Amino acid sequence: MSELETFREEVRTWLDENCPPNMRTPKDGSARLPSKPEEVSAWCRTLADRGFTVPTWPKAYSGGDYSKEQAAVIQEEMTRIGTMNPAVSFGTMMLGPVLLEFASHEQKLEHLVPIARGEIRWCQGYSEPGSGSDLASLQTRAVRDGDHFIINGQKIWTTMAHLSDWMFCLVRTDPDAAKHHGISFILFDLKSDGVTVKPIKLISGQSQFCEVFFEDVRALAKNLVGKQNDGWTIAKRLLQYERNMLSGLGGGGRRRGGRRRGQSEGRQRGNSGPSMTAESARRYLGTVDGKLGDLTLRDEIVQADLDQLGFQLTMKRSNEEAKTSGPSAASSMFKLYMSEMGKRRSELMMKVMGYQSLGWEGPGFSQEETGTTRGWLRGKGSSIEGGTSEIQKNVIAKRVLGLPSGD
Ligand SMILES: Cc1cc2nc3c(=O)[nH]c(=O)nc-3n(C[C@H](O)[C@H](O)[C@H](O)COP(=O)(O)OP(=O)(O)OC[C@H]3O[C@@H](n4cnc5c(N)ncnc54)[C@H](O)[C@@H]3O)c2cc1C
Repeated sequence: MSELETFREEVRTWLDENCPPNMRTPKDGSARLPSKPEEVSAWCRTLADRGFTVPTWPKAYSGGDYSKEQAAVIQEEMTRIGTMNPAVSFGTMMLGPVLLEFASHEQKLEHLVPIARGEIRWCQGYSEPGSGSDLASLQTRAVRDGDHFIINGQKIWTTMAHLSDWMFCLVRTDPDAAKHHGISFILFDLKSDGVTVKPIKLISGQSQFCEVFFEDVRALAKNLVGKQNDGWTIAKRLLQYERNMLSGLGGGGRRRGGRRRGQSEGRQRGNSGPSMTAESARRYLGTVDGKLGDLTLRDEIVQADLDQLGFQLTMKRSNEEAKTSGPSAASSMFKLYMSEMGKRRSELMMKVMGYQSLGWEGPGFSQEETGTTRGWLRGKGSSIEGGTSEIQKNVIAKRVLGLPSGD
């Protein structure tokens, strides 16, 4: 038996012995038993004690010091019994990896451990009303005052800020420097005086995004990551992790399973579109001699399924090739393809479902149907979040293909 197979056996035994029944999806297809938030937190702590929430992080920061291959085994075994990793969040997928690269040991100890244990939830303070694609033009100001920075300004589209504890935030610390310089990357508690979080109500009646206002917020200077005015490098690196996460490249388990306090509701990671199979098309449209009558649609469905399969295989190969290195500008390619493919698949599913795709709630529409319709609408945001598709094309042209650019 290979070392990895022995490790798999150990993981399997440990999960069988330690994973409570209400943290697993039963294999017979029946619904998962109900669980209370404190039970989910307890499961998170049990996993963290074994180094399973962030397997590749160092043990010193509540990781497991496991290799990428071992981490994949842990994920596979958790998927096998239908359990979740409640720690999966912006903290584990985006902030944690950049702290590992750029933060001091003290900062890592203070912030990585609670992330690994699912105790602190983070939100991303990047976009501002005038700074989305042109992120480096951001205006939120931070001025040093002794042991603190005093922050004034506003962020927007901050996913789940109203359910988060802390923010990782881009601030301008030198307004006279060229726009990519003079930006710093700072962390602060959203309960600090002067922070106002206002959820933005969507047409659905839900709120997944917020506006966040800062009025003389005092953030401890020790929570500045990297050097003052050098935050752009960290900001860009975090975006690569974000794009990895959104494309599904990042691994670490689908975040939907790890949702806590609604944290991840707003950002479907890896939105590859509905599971659009020929079977659902047959169900909605009927068949002639066991086949769909509409030849064009048949062709579109086969093409969509082949595209998805090709994408999954390319991701697998890319992940295997990447070995120990983190994401690169190539994550823009995966993010672009994933979000555009997801939108194409959703459009196709709407076509297949016809009238049944018009339901939002109420009788006449199954939960699967309203879920597909909601996913179709949500999917539109996937080509905007983490940088729009046009911006990904710019990054690919410049950083992957090395084409000349104006700036
Ligand atoms: C689901 C979702 C979740 C989000 N969560 C967060 C979050 O948690 N934190 C956060 O900080 N932000 C978040 N955002 C905001 C997101 O990062 C921005 O919406 C995005 O960067 C685009 O910025 P903008 O909305 O200002 O559009 P703009 O930058 O104004 O762009 C408008 C249009 O112009 C195009 N465009 C702009 N510049 C160029 C260019 N140079 N070349 C070609 N085309 C261009 C864009 O592609 C787009 O089509 C989220 C957005 C969504 C949809």
